[in-house]
Amino acid sequence: MRLARFGPQGLYCAQETPDEPFRVLYSDPFDTLPGGWEFGSELRGPSIPFLAPVSPGKIVGVGRNYKEHVKELSNPMPSEPVLFLKAPSSIIGPLAPVVLPPESQRVEFEGEVAVVLRLPLRRATIEQARAAILGFTAACDVTARDLQKKDPCFSRAKSFDSFCPIGPVIAITASESDDVENLEVTTRINGEQRQHAHVREMSWGILEQLVYVSRMMSLEPGDVILTGTPAGVGPLADGDQIEVEVSGVGVLRNPVEAFRG
Ligand code: ZN
Repeated sequence: MRLARFGPQGLYCAQETPDEPFRVLYSDPFDTLPGGWEFGSELRGPSIPFLAPVSPGKIVGVGRNYKEHVKELSNPMPSEPVLFLKAPSSIIGPLAPVVLPPESQRVEFEGEVAVVLRLPLRRATIEQARAAILGFTAACDVTARDLQKKDPCFSRAKSFDSFCPIGPVIAITASESDDVENLEVTTRINGEQRQHAHVREMSWGILEQLVYVSRMMSLEPGDVILTGTPAGVGPLADGDQIEVEVSGVGVLRNPVEAFRG
């Protein structure tokens, strides 16, 4: 099952298999499990412009979670997950432009698997974490690398408007399944593959990350966890096309533009 949002009101729609059309979803996907979802009419037309599939209360980033990426930035391997918060106002949907701000001379892409929560979590166990996941989507954790190196904390570098493209759909997981261990992420810039990894290569797995984060802060339905980026990050330039692909989700596409005031 794949969940998306569309139209001026940001209505939900869902697709049971990739061969079937998206249909308007009447049920609240945070209240009702997919087995009980009620649907309305089919969405017609050659392509539906989807919005960001979720409006989170917070975005929690996990840094330095793939060993090869830690090495490429010459950082020491952390003994605990490195956490940061990214402003929810940085979210944009598929096809919306990432705008390069004049305050940074080096903005980089970080293709990532994003986890969307269905249930609240507080000091969770692994099993509670697994059951709380609504699904996965693709995200680009866009980062002003020069500002990140200058600042003692990452807030500024991670939070410019448009720095969190997300979507195009949320691939819904069955809570008992092992989907969570079996995802791949690929980033392409202008059609050329720049990053590729399997979540098994992470230092801290997705469920461990949720358990860890939920010790510090309550996680709420709709919250998004960016699970870290693999090796291969690099700068973005005006006119670039970013593609982040995650298994079961499809391809998140966003153009890059210079700030024009
Ligand atoms: Zn990141």
